[in-house]
Amino acid sequence: MTEEAKFQVKPGKLFINGEWREPLSGESFQSINPATGEPITDIALAGDEDVDQAVRAARQAFESGKWRQLSAADRGKILWRIGDLVMQYADELAYLETIDAGKPITESRYVDIPMVAELFHYYAGWTTKIQGETIPVSGPFFNYTLREPVGVVAAITPWNFPLLLACWKIAPALAAGNTVIAKPAEETSLSLLRLAELIQEIDLPPGVFNVVTGPGRVGAALVRHPGVDKIAFTGETTTGQQIMREAAATLKKVTLELGGKSPNIVLADADLDQATRGAFIGIFYNNGQVCTAGSRLFVEQAIHDQLLERLTARAQKAQPGDPLNPKTRLGPLASQAQLEKVMRYVEIGRREGAILVTGGDRPSLGNGKGFYFNPTIFDRVDNKMKIAQDEIFGPVLSVIPVRDLDEAIEKANDTIYGLAAGVWTRDIKKAHRLARELKAGTVWINTYNRYDVASPFGGYKKSGFGRELGMHALEYYTQVKSVWVDLSE
Ligand code: NAD
Repeated sequence: MTEEAKFQVKPGKLFINGEWREPLSGESFQSINPATGEPITDIALAGDEDVDQAVRAARQAFESGKWRQLSAADRGKILWRIGDLVMQYADELAYLETIDAGKPITESRYVDIPMVAELFHYYAGWTTKIQGETIPVSGPFFNYTLREPVGVVAAITPWNFPLLLACWKIAPALAAGNTVIAKPAEETSLSLLRLAELIQEIDLPPGVFNVVTGPGRVGAALVRHPGVDKIAFTGETTTGQQIMREAAATLKKVTLELGGKSPNIVLADADLDQATRGAFIGIFYNNGQVCTAGSRLFVEQAIHDQLLERLTARAQKAQPGDPLNPKTRLGPLASQAQLEKVMRYVEIGRREGAILVTGGDRPSLGNGKGFYFNPTIFDRVDNKMKIAQDEIFGPVLSVIPVRDLDEAIEKANDTIYGLAAGVWTRDIKKAHRLARELKAGTVWINTYNRYDVASPFGGYKKSGFGRELGMHALEYYTQVKSVWVDLSE
């Protein structure tokens, strides 16, 4: 049986107050399969009125107390059950992610979806550990704190890890007792809509979880709406800036996970095989459509030629292919717009005088209409060039030779972003010096693109603020109330 025959893709509706609704706007748009350029199905396009209904449902569910006042243990059991359902339907969710985002099925099935399940399991454990403190204040007073949910949370997310990044927000928000409206990227709504169907099977009170679909203006309507208390956003830095400006009008709480141009630094004493693998995965995992992509490879002169030769050989061997084939490691880019952006930057790199070592072109695959692009490496890149400063968000690596550690640190930090950084060395002192001096929310030493639901993630500088994952995320989905009691006689 083919994968297609196994799972039916239905047209999308809006998931509001525990039921499926046709959009009041009467509008819809098509979701495109990036491997074929063909439409998959129609997705509802929420208008302002639809957004308003979703917000009212979420608000009512919050105020009713049916979720936030449920015992913490019972909330935990429900989250755990969502995690179980995700694993039960892992094949289908992975399939949807792959046809919608072009992500290789092996990655959707064995990386993204298991981590989605783990998120719900992990935060299920936290519901009973969100607690206040007793504070030794002066005077005859008893003072304690309550850690309470923020209210209605809007989760607005991008297309590169569609279900995963949405659940980075949904799981901790629900664990803390908030109600949620999720707005996936217009390119990739299918997996989140399917998750809503699965959630419908369990005992979650209506309105606690809602999904509205559509382009940026649907997200903007959520940001403007006075009934939303918090925006949890992942996406481009410029969109984040716009959200922050708009959110000021209603003084919403905002957390922003934004772009990156992460340095991956290979020192001369590094294990070359390991560093080659790390440089390759750093930039080509998910075709470089990763906010932490190690898109600037700083290499100490002494090993530059050796490393580049190995890396180039590896890139040339890594042929893109049909993402539904379990052997495929590189699928198509996620959209036509993304493909055009990558091609534009390859042209810019050429004009700036960087040396194109491999790639820079498109393979001919399938029906010829998919958004495939070959892994691309530019050498002799100057850190000031546009290809080294702008986030390309594609399979394009800039190799930047450096004399020594000091030059590597200075240039690595010379960027508006600060999301992540990689370091390859056998020297423990150099490794820890780099860990402290690199201005980034995550530093990987002799590894890259490593994540865990328990470890905090977020940006420095224009890569945003707030932290996701781990116990740190819960801080941003709760607020602290101080309670005073007079104990004087
Ligand atoms: P994007 O900013 O264009 O869109 C992200 C989401 O915001 C989408 O759902 C979109 O519809 C919505 N949106 C667009 N305009 C909006 C507005 N004015 N108000 C409210 N919502 C709006 O980003 P993208 O192209 O989908 O994703 C790629 C970007 O995401 C890259 O910059 C990448 O680095 C970033 N990203 C960051 C992280 C991280 O954790 N830091 C993770 C993945 C991706």
